[in-house]
Amino acid sequence: MQNNALMKNKILAVGSVALDTIKTPFGKVKEALGGSATYFSAGARFFSPVSVVAVVGTDFPKKHLALMKRLGVDTSNISIEEGKTFRWTGEYDFDLNSAKTLKTELNVFANFKPIINPENRFCRVVFLANIDPEIQHAVLSQVKRPSLSACDTMNYWIQNKKKSLVGLLKKVDIFLCNEGEARELSGEYNLIQAARWLLSKGPRIAVIKKGEHGVLCFSRESVFSAPAFLLESVFDPTGAGDTFAGGFIGYLAGAPSRINESVIRKAIIYGTVLASYNVESFSLKRIAGLGRLDIEKRYKAFQVLTQF
Ligand code: AMP
Repeated sequence: MQNNALMKNKILAVGSVALDTIKTPFGKVKEALGGSATYFSAGARFFSPVSVVAVVGTDFPKKHLALMKRLGVDTSNISIEEGKTFRWTGEYDFDLNSAKTLKTELNVFANFKPIINPENRFCRVVFLANIDPEIQHAVLSQVKRPSLSACDTMNYWIQNKKKSLVGLLKKVDIFLCNEGEARELSGEYNLIQAARWLLSKGPRIAVIKKGEHGVLCFSRESVFSAPAFLLESVFDPTGAGDTFAGGFIGYLAGAPSRINESVIRKAIIYGTVLASYNVESFSLKRIAGLGRLDIEKRYKAFQVLTQF
């Protein structure tokens, strides 16, 4: 068994590993590598080691698992089961902020019962990326006393598993969702009211993502508002929220000091930087080729952009 000290920064992330078929005004792609846990890990790996918990079918191309491994992601908790991989089909019109889901095929995820291998049960940080809240509960309950837990979701689960999702809010430190989901879950149109509702259900921090309009981060004592990084060409927004979460949680997990307001604000900007790279191409094409220096370069450019 791995030494507990070595698990200090390691993130255990559950979520979808998927084959995505997507159309945007600028192009289309069929059965490309996607999924909430895939994008999350591709962002978080710059700051902290990540192990992904997921299931794929026997049709899942081996080259996708090889890519995740090449990026340094621990894939030992991804099981391969008889059947088809989770598939998501979506499209965007010129308002790239909201995806239209055309089809969600859960396939092998429909009956997935995650079993975390013994050494990963000691991970100190747990990220429950967008997936069935019952799977999120099952993973969280197997981890021994995490020091930080966070959770994301999407309208599909708000509509189909709301009770289970609200139950999860009690158990996590940070909750992330986009503005439409915050409104739908809370029943409040105003985002301050929606955040207040979310915080009243348990988490210490609620992060509301607003696509090209940036992000709001609420705690009981403070609010931080950050714009998105200004880009000349946005190609495909799929996975922006997940790579944002990767940069945000990855930075928090590996933060040199205790988590305080200043560390949280830096983490929000690293998340913003990761998301901005992700939307420049389909699938993982852009972020898979990045190095830590690219991240720092854009982080500095963001500081220049927002200084006054
Ligand atoms: P984002 O654009 O950050 O919200 O994430 C998009 C990713 O989430 C895509 O790669 C999809 O494969 C994945 N996805 C879409 N619908 C679901 C769902 N209902 N549960 C889990 N993952 C999903």
